[in-house]
Amino acid sequence: MTLPTFNYMEVVYLIATALFILSLKWMSAPTTARRGVWAGEVGMLLAIVGTLFEKGIIDYHWIFIALVLGTIIGVPLGRVAMTAVPQRTALSHAFGACCVTLVGTAEFYLRSPNVPKFMMAVLCLEVILGGLTFTGSLMAAGKLQEVLPQRPITYKGQNLVNLALLAVAIVVGIVLILHPEHKNLFPAMVGIALVFGVLLIIPIGGADMPTVISLLNSYAGLSAAAMGFVLNSKLLIVAGALDGSSGFILSVIMCKAMNRSFANVIFGAFGQVQAAAAAGGEAKTVRSATAEEAAAILGAASSVVIVPGYGMAVAQAQHKVRELFDVLTKKGVDVRFGIHPVAGRMPGHMNVLLAEADIPYDRLKEMDDVNSDLPQTDVALIIGANDVTNPAARTDTSSPIYGMPIIDVDKARTVMVIKRSMNPGFAGIDNPLYYLDQTLMLFGDAKAFVGDIVRELSGSGGH
Ligand code: NDP
Repeated sequence: MTLPTFNYMEVVYLIATALFILSLKWMSAPTTARRGVWAGEVGMLLAIVGTLFEKGIIDYHWIFIALVLGTIIGVPLGRVAMTAVPQRTALSHAFGACCVTLVGTAEFYLRSPNVPKFMMAVLCLEVILGGLTFTGSLMAAGKLQEVLPQRPITYKGQNLVNLALLAVAIVVGIVLILHPEHKNLFPAMVGIALVFGVLLIIPIGGADMPTVISLLNSYAGLSAAAMGFVLNSKLLIVAGALDGSSGFILSVIMCKAMNRSFANVIFGAFGQVQAAAAAGGEAKTVRSATAEEAAAILGAASSVVIVPGYGMAVAQAQHKVRELFDVLTKKGVDVRFGIHPVAGRMPGHMNVLLAEADIPYDRLKEMDDVNSDLPQTDVALIIGANDVTNPAARTDTSSPIYGMPIIDVDKARTVMVIKRSMNPGFAGIDNPLYYLDQTLMLFGDAKAFVGDIVRELSGSGGH
């Protein structure tokens, strides 16, 4: 009796798959997130090394060139500033989707015209999703990096044109499934998908880009899963499905946090009306205060809720914020952090920054928890946040962000806002919070201003 031969590759792929699943699980909590990143990295390394030992490989030259090129591009991409992570992520999706489209195209020409119907259907799905994700992700990265206009570009009948274009790509795909001998239709289908990716992103405003990136992430995952079917790779199918579903779940979470629907994000041209709204409006007065005055108010408080936002990330103020937390806690002030799910420019942005500064996790409160405490809170200190604290989202039905859940800082006894000017946040709208009687504006860079407050508090006496 002969024993079945042991397939080491299958075991390596199985371990890689398990690590991908564990990675996603661990990354969903701050305490285990680092372990999650490690698991993902080791899983990917195993998957790559395993693939290099595939029996089908007859020549390593091109693989070696690709590895060198990938490393040259990948290393600097891994070192971008925290604030540039969303566009960096979009670029990664663009590379992945480009690869999927190229592999699909190569497979088509290798197999054509003898492509079974199921295989052709999967191939079409692969290149349509891959093509639109490639150009869509490049556009998204360009908008976030501000090399392309952030404002939505719209015209009459735009959604109809876009949907019609996608429909044409699908119809061409169906014709190819039924008549694979019409080879010439294949480049047309890929071309339409590439154009569709550009047109899909043009009407979407910069503020919605992180959500769109997460959606494109899910498309990239699905196209990779389709490629897994084409290449008969179980690992790719599982990894693509995990990527696709986690990207989709993340988009749903982000839409919920902004109280927006998918359709509104994709077709709503968000960002256009607001800019117009920001341009108008009568002059209103605000009260400002110095670091010394702010320190006196904070030092006399018994409870403080700090609400960080995108400006804290820009200023890299998290370490100064930690110093502020320490000095206030030492004085007996109860300091907590109110974390809005879409504060910053990517989900978990604030958690990552505050964790980097070693702020205890148990001091970080989610929006709903902190909102119930705010009416009993002495001071709400907003550091570089704007849209996520805008009461218009709760009270003004005409506001473009009406319905978006916010941190109810206006319910605190005193509100202090650190920002550099009266400029609006990412949604481009005015914030009525700044004109309330209990609000003090602390104008300045977040890092410098918090540093000044810490100095004042450290120099001053007890509580
Ligand atoms: P906002 O973009 O609303 O506001 C940030 C504020 O920070 C600005 O008003 C700016 O004012 C201030 N700022 C910038 N640089 C500095 C600095 N160096 N020092 C001090 N202040 C500074 O940020 P929020 O975090 O409140 O809101 C996030 C926005 O992004 C929301 O509109 C949300 O919907 C959107 N979004 C976020 C996603 C996510 O996943 N996090 C996903 C999708 C959308 P000034 O210029 O006057 O200093």
